[in-house]
Amino acid sequence: MLDMSDARKLVEIRGLKMHFPIFSGLLRRQSGAVKAVDDVSFTIYEGETLGLVGESGCGKSTCGRAVLRLYDVTEGSIRIDGVEIAQADPAQLRGLRPTMQMVFQDPQASLNPRMTLASIIGEPLDEHTKLGKAEKLNRVYELMDAVGLNRAFAHRYPHEFSGGQRQRIGIARALALQPKFIVCDEPIAALDVSIQAQVVNLLEKLQDEFGLTYLFISHDLSMVRHIADRVAVMYLGKIVETAPREALYAAPAHPYTRALLSAVPEPDPRREARKDRIILKGDVPSPANPPKGCNFCTRCPEVMEICREAEPDTFEVTPGQFVACHLYAQTNSEQTAGQAAATEAHKSIQQGD
Ligand code: SF4
Repeated sequence: MLDMSDARKLVEIRGLKMHFPIFSGLLRRQSGAVKAVDDVSFTIYEGETLGLVGESGCGKSTCGRAVLRLYDVTEGSIRIDGVEIAQADPAQLRGLRPTMQMVFQDPQASLNPRMTLASIIGEPLDEHTKLGKAEKLNRVYELMDAVGLNRAFAHRYPHEFSGGQRQRIGIARALALQPKFIVCDEPIAALDVSIQAQVVNLLEKLQDEFGLTYLFISHDLSMVRHIADRVAVMYLGKIVETAPREALYAAPAHPYTRALLSAVPEPDPRREARKDRIILKGDVPSPANPPKGCNFCTRCPEVMEICREAEPDTFEVTPGQFVACHLYAQTNSEQTAGQAAATEAHKSIQQGD
């Protein structure tokens, strides 16, 4: 795991909100807003992979797109490599695009079927560089080598490739301008299980080779455990827990994280048989109408009175492990009630270990 003690902050997100207005009535007046991302803050250090996890619809993909300014954000600060981009205009953003790129979930949908592989990978070079034809083709070949695509395929079309190869094309295109920061939005979700590990291994290899920094968005907690240095857990538009990978998987502190992790299958059948699964009751509320107080209060097995009234603060429960939950409000005792609850709950999940 990467040592963050001396690492530079490459991405700093503070109070990010992405609300989509809802219009209704004859006059199409705004009657509310879908709070897809609601006051989210996190930091990603240079060379690090931050995993962003949560159920589908929790706002993680919207968050990734907002960070890259693929949307006009509602509120908040986005600093990438020291440059504030939250309110940057299109011309400024165009100048900053080489620094930050995205790998999309569905390689089939994100590649133009009428363009050859060489023109797809070379497109950002046309936009942002003045390379001549031969230099550009050379650069395309270098990128194909980097992602493990045979140079002989340069003039083929996307439909001639498998899903895994198409995702390699998407990764090569994202690398074309030598970015520092890449948002990987569910990059393996559309791929066969047998191919997923290959693509994750490729992303890790490229990170080492080019010093890349990733925001890795996924609902697959096993894969995030493999690739991420730290993990942020999102529920209904908010980050509820951020922690170094080992701490999060060994002793998840937020009740929602504990429920999510209890659903991850164990490779060892004996441990799997002993595991207590936490089944959450009810549905995820609508982000257009989130509950008062804690967002998770309608489903939380440990809900208290205060949870329905006040939004929880964030507490650091172990070094680098931040949790937004009233269970962790400081008491005078050495260990907070929340920490004790987390430890006990985790023990019961891992019973017999
Ligand atoms: Fe559960 Fe309350 Fe903590 Fe929210 S603040 S996660 S409802 S215990």
